[in-house]
Amino acid sequence: MSRAGTIDGLQFARDRGVVTGVIAIEDLPRLAAMGCKGATLRYTVRGDRGESGQPCLNIEVLGRLQLVCQRCLGLLDFPLALANELDLAKTLQEIEGAEDDIDRVLATHSMAVAELVEDEAMLALPMVPMHDRCERPIAQSDRAESSPFAELAKIRSRGTGPERSH
Ligand SMILES: [Zn+2]
Repeated sequence: MSRAGTIDGLQFARDRGVVTGVIAIEDLPRLAAMGCKGATLRYTVRGDRGESGQPCLNIEVLGRLQLVCQRCLGLLDFPLALANELDLAKTLQEIEGAEDDIDRVLATHSMAVAELVEDEAMLALPMVPMHDRCERPIAQSDRAESSPFAELAKIRSRGTGPERSH
C-alpha cells in the first residue's frame, strides 16, 4: 500500500474529510507502465455532497509528469492541473445503470488515495505525448551518422506487429 493511504469513502464524504499530500512515480505503477518516467503530484481529496445530495469526492491534482516524446524519444515535461468531482456509488449497478455522464466510483471502506489520484492523472494524459518542437532534430534521411535515438524511433514506429516468417 502506498504512503498516501486509504479512505473509507462514504464515511469520508459524510465527515467532509480532507487528505492532502505529494505522490511520486513509485506510487503510480500504472502511469509508470504507460511510459511515464517521473512524477511529482500534489493532491487534495475532499469528501463532500454533490448538488443532488449524493456523497462525492473532490479530487485536485497539481504537478508535473515526465513523459517520453513519441517523435524524438526525449523527455517531455507535462504539467498537470486538474480538479474533478467523483460521485460515490454504493453499488456497481448504480454505476452501470447510470445514463448521465457524471463520473462515479464505487465507494468502499478502503479506497486507495494513490489509485484515485492516478486514475484522474491517467485520464488527463495526451494519447501521443510530443514536444511542440523537438530539440533533437529528427533524421530526415538515411545518413550514416543518424543518432541511436533516431534508430530507436524507427524500431519503435514499426510497432510490435506480427513478425515476418522468412
Ligand atoms: Zn520531442
